[in-house]
Amino acid sequence: MTVRLSTAEAYGRLFDDYDTWLFDCDGVLWRGDHLIEGVVEVLDLLRRRNKKIVFVTNNATKSRKSYKSKFDQLGVQAHVDEIYGSAYAAAVYISSVIKLPKHKKVYVIGMSGLEEELNEEGILHLGGTDSADNTLEPFDLSQFELDPDVGAVVAGLDTSINYTKLSKAFQYLTRNPGCHFIATNEDSTYPTSAGLLPGAGAIGAPLRYALGRDPISTGKPSSTMLDCVRAKVHFDPRRTIMVGDRLNTDILFGQQGGLATLLVLTGITSEEEISGPEPSPIVPDFVTQSLGDLRV
Ligand SMILES: [Mg+2]
Repeated sequence: MTVRLSTAEAYGRLFDDYDTWLFDCDGVLWRGDHLIEGVVEVLDLLRRRNKKIVFVTNNATKSRKSYKSKFDQLGVQAHVDEIYGSAYAAAVYISSVIKLPKHKKVYVIGMSGLEEELNEEGILHLGGTDSADNTLEPFDLSQFELDPDVGAVVAGLDTSINYTKLSKAFQYLTRNPGCHFIATNEDSTYPTSAGLLPGAGAIGAPLRYALGRDPISTGKPSSTMLDCVRAKVHFDPRRTIMVGDRLNTDILFGQQGGLATLLVLTGITSEEEISGPEPSPIVPDFVTQSLGDLRV
């Protein structure tokens, strides 16, 4: 059963009950380039009460450092080490979980933010923003030289996705034995201030279809993301709450990690999906219209 929050007393109890607050960003703090009203005040309130704040985003187009500039631009206080992105989680997964040998490389479908996070972890990579792969020329398999050192393909949101990148990724995944297939996240859509666009999941979908194989995802709801947070931040799951706008990523992520969950309706999820005739099977603990409601 979801508790619908509306009174100052109920919001106050939330502040008392949770010490660590995990926030999704798009659809919670802002929508595209528009800050959601009251967010700055609520975050200030939490900081004044010495709450731990963590931002957990599936956006893999930006590194944590460049994502921080988005906070600055919108006037939201944040520290780089409070920000966890799915590109960072993918890089940590490659270096610390599968422990890809240092001489091995990753073929990238994605943008500079993903490449920056791979660099930070000392992971060699190719593809991505390389102009040779961002071409409108048709892909010629007979001219393609397979690099035997490519041990993983990582796919994230890539606004310059093309047939050459998909073909190269396909070659590595079918011809290099044991090549890992990793997705930064599987969001079907990507919210912008003007409306929805295809998300990272839609970028990796042609490969899944061609291969008949699913990637390992490092974004929410995958536990890899929470493992990354856990490696750096000490928190008690019983006193931790995940705030998000998407049921099948944010809320599921919180639930699978044993955290409390608060759904806001300023992003992807509509009122209809939680209280309509066919509600989602993913049921948050709490719901409120907007994060700004917590200004009490
Ligand atoms: Mg969101």
